[in-house]
Amino acid sequence: MFKRCNRCGATNLAFKNRCRRCNVKLNSNNLLAFSLAFCGFVFYIPANLFPIIETNKFFINYTNTIIDGILVLWEKGDYPIAVIVFIASVLIPVLKFIIIFYLVYSIKFRKCKNFRFKEKLYKFISVTGHWSLLDVFVVVVLSGLIHSESIFVRPREGALFFLIMVIFTVLSVMNLDLDELGEKCGYSRSKNR
Ligand SMILES: [Zn+2]
Repeated sequence: MFKRCNRCGATNLAFKNRCRRCNVKLNSNNLLAFSLAFCGFVFYIPANLFPIIETNKFFINYTNTIIDGILVLWEKGDYPIAVIVFIASVLIPVLKFIIIFYLVYSIKFRKCKNFRFKEKLYKFISVTGHWSLLDVFVVVVLSGLIHSESIFVRPREGALFFLIMVIFTVLSVMNLDLDELGEKCGYSRSKNR
């Protein structure tokens, strides 16, 4: 199978990431990246409103949302775990949304200021993207620790919304391409990307 380069029109093998002729990222689409990030953001809202975990102790059901879980851990004095869950499930997703929207805005309106800083932000969301599914895992496992003495623990709809949000965010970052801005602004691509 082949893919056509959006910029120079060269035909490339489908599994290639970059165009063989002009080295631009294939299949990058910043509008699509924005749409996917927006969908992710929409799913992030119910991910916080609905319980992500349900536990049953002595025939009584308890449910916890993400924020609930963090507060319970904090009140119990499990500060490091509370902080880790907060970083994985609140801080990183929110930061990612802000960065993606900021980068798409910069590319769209050719904001060349602080390009090297934007490159670092891009690197940050690309690297954390690889670990995004770990966020879900961390949330589910650590929420389970809240009621470690409970009879059963199972994920609830909030966890599903969170998972969908993560998938949308990963797809968004895959479609985002900062080279377009770098080119417009006259910066060369850095070696490690
Ligand atoms: Zn090309």
